[in-house]
Amino acid sequence: MASVQENVADVQEKINRAAERAGRDPADITIVAVAKGVDVERIRQALEAGIPIIGENKVQEALQKVKALGSGAPWHMVGHLQRNKVKEAVRIFSLIQSLDSLRLAEEINSRALTAGTIMDVLVQVNTSQEESKYGLEPQETLDFVKTVSSFKGLSVRGLMTIGAFLPEPEQVRPCFRLLREVQEQIIDARIPNIEMDYLSMGMTSDFEVAVEEGANMLRIGTAIFGPRE
Ligand SMILES: *Cc1c(COP(=O)(O)O)cnc(C)c1O
Repeated sequence: MASVQENVADVQEKINRAAERAGRDPADITIVAVAKGVDVERIRQALEAGIPIIGENKVQEALQKVKALGSGAPWHMVGHLQRNKVKEAVRIFSLIQSLDSLRLAEEINSRALTAGTIMDVLVQVNTSQEESKYGLEPQETLDFVKTVSSFKGLSVRGLMTIGAFLPEPEQVRPCFRLLREVQEQIIDARIPNIEMDYLSMGMTSDFEVAVEEGANMLRIGTAIFGPRE
């Protein structure tokens, strides 16, 4: 199996080429290494290879690893967040990428205010019309963002989506395009307290297409750490 370091170099090379095709600067694109099921030693290797951010999809798992690793890197929550885990999530994550409902927004807001902080979040949008996926519908996202813009304990920094599970990366392109359209709609609405800095889209199977479509945050697991059990 290739080392984490080799994998990171390979992913970075692919990002560079995709960015070049799209006339973009690869330096504008951040890799979040998604480490669910991955042990602390391999996470450490990813950080040593230059990965700036670690993503997790379970609060409990993240907690243990943060404890073991110390605060060597920012951690992002990328999976569906249950409300009873928000208190811990606010404590350990620098960004919650998976804000997917008003009730969750209310809980994050209230826990952040209690902790005396402002929680950065991305709004997750369901761009694939797959029932099984969490996230706001594209057409309801603008109103949702307007509503949460008045919450003092959270700060919307952008959007996140998980592309459709389809065999060809090219088939996922419309999902990414749609997320970008929603982003532009929100920017045009000039809502106070809302920033649209981040477009988090693209995983192992489709990150090059995501780069071509404007992603500046990629969430990559398998291509960095190898296949999950
Ligand atoms: C697991 C996961 C990823 C990374 O998936 P890979 O296909 O292994 O790159 C990205 N985003 C989310 C939300 C995930 O749960």
